[in-house]
Order: sequence, then structure tokens, then C-alpha cells
Amino acid sequence: MTIAAPPEQLSDAARSFLQNSHHDLLIGGERTGADDGRTFESLDPATGEPIAVVAQAGMEDVDRAVRAARTAFEDGPWASMSAADRGALIERLAQLVEEHGQELAELESLDNGKPVTYAKVVDVGSSAGHLRYFAGWPTKIEGEVIPVRAPDTLCYTRKEPVGVCGQIVPWNFPLLMACWKVAPALAAGCTVLLKPAEQTPLTAIRLGELALEAGFPEGVLNVLTGDGETGAAIVDHPDVDKIAFTGSTVVGREIGAKAGAALKRVTLELGGKSPNIILPDADLDAAVKGSWLAIYFNSGQACNAGSRLFVPRENFDEVVSALAKQAEGARVGPGLDQQTQLGPLVSAEQRDRVMGYIDSGREQGAELVVGGDAALTDSGGYFVAPTLFSTDSDDLRVAREEIFGPVLVASPYESLEEVAQRANAGDYGLAAGLWTTSLSSAHRMAAMLRAGSVYVNCWGLADPAAPFGGFKASGIGREHGHDGLDAYLESKTVWTAV
Ligand code: NDP
Repeated sequence: MTIAAPPEQLSDAARSFLQNSHHDLLIGGERTGADDGRTFESLDPATGEPIAVVAQAGMEDVDRAVRAARTAFEDGPWASMSAADRGALIERLAQLVEEHGQELAELESLDNGKPVTYAKVVDVGSSAGHLRYFAGWPTKIEGEVIPVRAPDTLCYTRKEPVGVCGQIVPWNFPLLMACWKVAPALAAGCTVLLKPAEQTPLTAIRLGELALEAGFPEGVLNVLTGDGETGAAIVDHPDVDKIAFTGSTVVGREIGAKAGAALKRVTLELGGKSPNIILPDADLDAAVKGSWLAIYFNSGQACNAGSRLFVPRENFDEVVSALAKQAEGARVGPGLDQQTQLGPLVSAEQRDRVMGYIDSGREQGAELVVGGDAALTDSGGYFVAPTLFSTDSDDLRVAREEIFGPVLVASPYESLEEVAQRANAGDYGLAAGLWTTSLSSAHRMAAMLRAGSVYVNCWGLADPAAPFGGFKASGIGREHGHDGLDAYLESKTVWTAV
């Protein structure tokens, strides 16, 4: 295998990471190759060239990691560590993520394709923020004394960690999704098997190394690079207590079914087709700017992308032409280029999937307003031009299904009741957005929309303290905040005759 030379604009730290010829698994505090020696390549989506050779964990490796995680959970320093010390370790990891922010942002940009400027602020900045928020939790995990009816009885609850957690993350925000899962699990006192997506393993590997540097005891955070088989082996392992998954609804259903059969705890954060509704009284300039970012940020590869735009019929042409103008002027390019607004899609497979949707939109009669083609095809990378369809129909595949690329589908509407009903009609319920200057319309519509997050005059805001998750086929459970922490805790009721 020939690995491409690291791009020149990389920092020394990112170069030195990439110069390792092989990137190993992290099991029980040790870096190790896969038991059967298998590896896979991670590619630069801007060129299609391999950038790293990574160990591919098989069933043996998963089993070894589960045993290491179980031992760390039950015996040794992690099991007996005070809540304050646990919090301090997570805080130390947050600091290390910040200190290595430039390197991590560059690795994320190179591996995923996203603009490095966004990776620094959004992916790395929010990852550190997430760790820091959950670093504050261990000392606040409290049980309660319950005023039971029985006399001479002390009844209280203890909050205890769920146990060994399998955490399977996707490729669209690799480090951030890892931290969304790892941070609450560690805060609760669980131990973790982290499985990054095969397209984007690099920052998870680096996170594991930083956790060792921070001083986490061996076996607390294990990193298993690999593919869907690795993920399935984690889900199937009988000694894994909980699965947390972010990814496609298809795989989410499969994991949910398996977790149900084995009675494992499970959190699923899945797809979306999120309606973004401009109301007749909206500030149109702000709505156009926000709607642009809602769909084209991260080249549309966001579970909560505002991929379905509804505009009052009287404003439709104005809004669509303003968005089309912005799409035409958008800078598509490699993520490491500081000027890039839209990077490539993560893989050839994802580009082909998105192009397949664009073809279906054309074939089913949506009007292609702008885009519709692969871009920068000489580069070898997986670029797709920002694309905008308009249609009156809600039945087309592009109007109903998650595309997960830079493709917006805009439709006109006549009344608020009609648009709320159309916005709620799909299978998903992850996010929804509203643009309005009317307080009462905002709150009336926010209550009507069946979605886990509703954005009013903004899109995609997130905070480690604010719950995130989906209604309907967009998932089960919530991440972030109290709800996110609770997903890693069991409640034990203790009865004592006194
Ligand atoms: P997947 O759902 O296949 O992948 C997500 C994660 O699950 C990856 O780590 C993957 O590993 C792992 N995985 C795959 N199969 C299994 C399995 N049977 N058991 C356990 N883990 C498994 O998503 P894709 O990468 O295939 O993307 C397909 C579509 O999914 C996208 O077009 C998009 O619509 C949606 N998606 C949604 C995301 C979200 O944020 N909600 C994120 C990513 C994708 P590996 O990649 O190594 O195979």
C-alpha cells in the first residue's frame, strides 16, 4: 500500500501522527494490531488517495476489549476512583483536546473532507466543551432519600453506572460524535469501547491516545477501528451492557432489535429530513442566510440538516433565487484550503448515493434550480455542487428521504396549518426550524412540530447541556444534559429496616 505524502499545509503535529506506518487499536491501555493482522486504508476524500493504514478489529479484538473494559469497570483504579478524581480526568482530557486543537482539526479535515476552519471551531471546540461540561457532573450524581410509607425504614436510591458501553459513531462529525458519547459515559463511571466509522478513524485514535496521556486507567477507554462487522460484534457481545449509536436509520433499527432481544440499554440517534419553514412575516434576509447554512454546512452531511424548505407561495421565487445565487457563488474545495465553504463528501459511496438522489429528483419531475453535478472531478475527490430543487410535491424521494448531501428541496405553501401538517408527515422527527418575527406564531408552531429540536430564527444550535435526539424514526433517547447522563446510569433502590 502506498500512502500519499501528507499535504504541505499540515502542522508538524498532524504530520508526525500521519507518519506512523500503522495505526493500532487501543485495548486495555495498550496499542495493538488486530489479532488477525487485518488493516484498512483511510482515504482523503478531496483526492481519493490513502492517507493512513488502520487496524481492523475483528471478533477476537472486540472480545479482548470487552474483557479489558469489564475488568476496568469492576476492579482497579477506575472502579474505586472518587467522583472528583473522575471529573478531574475528564477535565484533563478536555484540556488536551484543546491543546491539540489545530492538529485534531487538520486530521478531521483531511479524513472527513470538512473545511478546517469549521473543524477547529465546531468539531474540536465543541468536543472540548462537551468533555468539560460532563467533567462537572460526577460530583453531582446524587441519589435520593424516599419518604416511604413503611415505618422504621430507610429507603434511598443510588445512581450507578450502567457498565461496559459500546459506542458506535458515524463519519460526519467523527471527534464530536465520539465526545458526545464518551463524555457522559465516563462521567457516569462506565467503561467504553469506541468504534469510529471506517471512513474517519483518525481523530478517535488520537482521542484514545490523549486519554492515555490524561491518565485514564487502562481499559476505561478502548478504541476499536474497523467496519460494520466490528460494530456488529460489539452489539452482539453478551458482556456489553449498553449500546449508544449514531448513524443510519437502517442500522439503528437493526441495533435496536438486537438490543431489545438481549435487553441491553440502547440510545439511538438516527437520520432526519428536517423541515425548515419560513413564515410570511419572517425577516427574509436572515431566513435565507440561516436556511443556507442549515442545509449546506458540512456539505449537508448532518443528521439535523434543514433539507426540506417550505416558503410562503408569495415569497417563493424571491427566496429560491436568493439561495440559488448563494449556491452558485459558493466555494467548493478541499477542506484544508482556508477559503473552502463546502468540502467533498466523505466517500465515493456517499457521493454516488447523493448523485443517485439527484438523478431521482430529476426523473421524478422536481425542477433543478441550481447544481445537480459532481464538482472538481479532475481532483479524484468526492465533490458535489450545492444543489437546489423546487417542487410542489411531498411524495418525491428527494422530498421524503434523507439524502445526507448538499441538496435542498424547496416547496411553496399556503397556510400555517397546512405547512405544519406537511412538515410532520414524514417518518423522521429530529429537527425543525421556523423563521418568523411573531412570538405567538413561533411558540404555536414550535408546539405543533413533532421534532426533538425546534430552531426559531436560527438553525443547528447545540449545547452540551441541552438535550438532543429524535422523535419517531429519528431515534430513541436523548444525548446531552441530564437526559444524556441518565442514559448511562442505573437507579438502585435500597431498603433498610432501621
Ligand atoms: P451507518 O449507519 O452504516 O454507519 C454508522 C456507524 O455504524 C459506523 O461506525 C458503521 O461502521 C457502523 N455500522 C455499520 N453497520 C453496522 C452494524 N450492522 N452494526 C453495528 N454498527 C454498524 O451509516 P453509513 O456510513 O452507511 O451512511 C449511510 C447513511 O446513513 C447516510 O447517507 C446518512 O443518511 C445516514 N447517516 C446518518 C448519520 C447521523 O448523524 N444520523 C451519520 C452517518 C450516516 P462503518 O462505517 O465502519 O461501516
